[in-house]
Amino acid sequence: MQKQLEINQIPFVNLKSQHAFMKSELLIAIGEVIDGGDFILGEQVAEFERQFAQLCGVRYAIGVNSGTDALILALKAIGVRSGDEVITVPNSFVASTTCIRVLGGRPIFVDVGADYNIDPSQIADAITSKTKAIIPVHLTGRPCNMEPILAIAKEKGIAVVEDAAQAVLAEYQGQPVGSFGTVGCFSLHPLKNLNACGDGGVLVTDNPELYDKLKIMRNTGLRSRDDCVLWSHNSRLDTLQAAILLVKLRYLHEWTQQRRENARYYQTQLDGISQIQIPPEREWEKCVYHTFVILAERRDELCQFLRERGIGTAIHYPVPIHLSTAGRELGYTEGSFPVAEMQSQQTLSLPIYQGLTVEQLEQVCHNIKLFYLYV
Ligand SMILES: *Cc1c(COP(=O)(O)O)cnc(C)c1O
Repeated sequence: MQKQLEINQIPFVNLKSQHAFMKSELLIAIGEVIDGGDFILGEQVAEFERQFAQLCGVRYAIGVNSGTDALILALKAIGVRSGDEVITVPNSFVASTTCIRVLGGRPIFVDVGADYNIDPSQIADAITSKTKAIIPVHLTGRPCNMEPILAIAKEKGIAVVEDAAQAVLAEYQGQPVGSFGTVGCFSLHPLKNLNACGDGGVLVTDNPELYDKLKIMRNTGLRSRDDCVLWSHNSRLDTLQAAILLVKLRYLHEWTQQRRENARYYQTQLDGISQIQIPPEREWEKCVYHTFVILAERRDELCQFLRERGIGTAIHYPVPIHLSTAGRELGYTEGSFPVAEMQSQQTLSLPIYQGLTVEQLEQVCHNIKLFYLYV
């Protein structure tokens, strides 16, 4: 029995298996960069940017060194400064708030809906004369309901900076996320759907002036080798990472399709368990399932039960940003965002990566059913 369990380990993520099958391709790409010696802003960076922009249906992409930096640079480029307010959500990864605070701005949170995304009906009340931007976060790889968000932003004359870190290739009404706002921000962190072998990020925009500015900003303010035109930090995407990403881009559509099929399996098999809720996929969206989340009664016990049976899960995220150690200074309290707080206590992310077998998915579902039937 013990042996059986060891064989059937299902980790929450499996980066080793993702890389094993394309290791030779990656090593060739890495070798080419080493032979070429063009480690900083080499031709692979430009080629990756070209392909990524095309993928998002926009004119420009700018490779940077993380998703966090993409967000910081986006806000800085649109002019967010000390004292400005920026609207976002409390249930995201901290970086969607960090980017506002490190510029001296004030994060204004809006609660989320059953889809884990910003509730557009609550945005208008959060807008003041100091509001500079809205950061809708396409959390879990599910697109936000962009139409009302864009309408409010347009009416009030404020920018939309999309945090699409978890949502590469996700679509809203048939259009890729990242292409709706003034700027779209993506992360290429090893755990994201399109992942570098290290840190990386990318910005997308249709605006030529913003593109020029962002290219200068990610390169210590240099317009050319000897002409520094503004103060900025170094946030370049490495040529090595771009070369690796170009290999992975060949597989991204296939991986996304597999994630969506895995999600479909869970949705069908877990349907009807009254103790769990799964956000529905609406007809206007294509979700890419960076995470597959359920709201589970007795979440922590379920998590423990699955762990004992070799099934890895994760919680995104157990502490809402306004209740984190750093976030306490923002002036919110427990009860400020009831939906986000409830979700933080009940949400559980199941393994969803490409390469999971039907047997493994079956095993996850089987054990969830066992838990609610017998424990
Ligand atoms: C991962 C992530 C980021 C930050 O990306 P890094 O590349 O890790 O800096 C920002 N926002 C969200 C929603 C994320 O999931």
